[in-house]
Amino acid sequence: MKFRSSLLASARAAIVGASLLSPGLAPAEETPANTRCPMMTEDEVESDHQGDFKGTAVALCCGKCERIWKADERAASYYVKVATELGLLPQFKGKEKELGLDAIELLPQRYCAIHQKTLITPASPSVEYQGVKVYFFNEKAKATWEKDPEAAAKKAIEAGVLPQLKKAA
Ligand SMILES: [Zn+2]
Repeated sequence: MKFRSSLLASARAAIVGASLLSPGLAPAEETPANTRCPMMTEDEVESDHQGDFKGTAVALCCGKCERIWKADERAASYYVKVATELGLLPQFKGKEKELGLDAIELLPQRYCAIHQKTLITPASPSVEYQGVKVYFFNEKAKATWEKDPEAAAKKAIEAGVLPQLKKAA
């Protein structure tokens, strides 16, 4: 009996301890599990830039990413899908189905035609080029492309980020 009650007491202590130590009980305030940005894929995340997806925190690398993430829930969902596939978001790994990620169809193009380590979504700015849609992370990248589409396309195709053009060529 004594043994049992001491077990109970320590279990209770563990629960109290966990709730004190883990702000994870309030999902939006947990420490995000990812260390690289799910948008600018080569960048380390920064603690003051954060979004969330269905109550789970996602760390981001900068204010540009945070603005896009927070402005458009569908874009954020798409980033969750593609970045989880790339292994950048361990917090969603294995939960694809319950989060509805299975229903999101990925574009052939993954990365921005200008910033080739930055991911795009169907909601990203785009242009028509040789009969296909070419996507950019933001309007600034699109403006860079528009200064010289031929040269930019050549570079992007060489980098392998425009499979939709390769097919057309
Ligand atoms: Zn960023």
